[in-house]
Amino acid sequence: MAYYVNRNVEMTWWEKAYIPEIIRGMLITVRHFFKNLFGFIPFFLGKKKEREIFTVYYPEETMDYPIAYRGRPVLALREDNLPECVACGLCEIACPAYCIDIIPGANSGKQNKDERFPKAFTIDYAICIFCGFCEEACPEEAIFMSDDCEISMLDRKKMKYDMEQLLVPVADLKDRIEFTRKMYGKWNY
Ligand code: SF4
Ligand code: SF4
Repeated sequence: MAYYVNRNVEMTWWEKAYIPEIIRGMLITVRHFFKNLFGFIPFFLGKKKEREIFTVYYPEETMDYPIAYRGRPVLALREDNLPECVACGLCEIACPAYCIDIIPGANSGKQNKDERFPKAFTIDYAICIFCGFCEEACPEEAIFMSDDCEISMLDRKKMKYDMEQLLVPVADLKDRIEFTRKMYGKWNY
């Protein structure tokens, strides 16, 4: 389930007093600290079936990321097996890390129904900072932040993904597409 920040929230007088809320926040932090410090004991003593700690023993254990999570950006692949991207270059300009490279191609009438399409599209994940600006800038719903963050490798050169590696079927991006429509529709336009 997606969570949205209510930026128009009115603070109560108690919250405006500031200090009580700081103390409340610190007590929550302390509670989590001790729960994580000792939460494994009942599990190891066999008194509980689950460890009551937040720590995930990766890679043996993994967790489902929330839909707002920003993993590696990917390109949407339409049902007719062509990229949604029209090579407008807006994501390339918006990218603060300059890790997107697009070579646009003009349509001769054979490639697809769009006037422009990407002849080549690369993202260098060794430089990407997973900011999501490309997703926000795209007018075509063609690039999305995925939940995939397992892209570390020994050779940095192999972290530059080409279009074939970047394309993900639109059906697999359904939840993220819905999330971005709500998010950008509410706050940015
Ligand atoms: S997530 Fe940010 S850094 Fe990465 S490609 Fe998109 S705009 Fe560039
Ligand atoms: S902004 Fe969207 S349509 Fe434009 S080049 Fe980037 S991915 Fe393609």
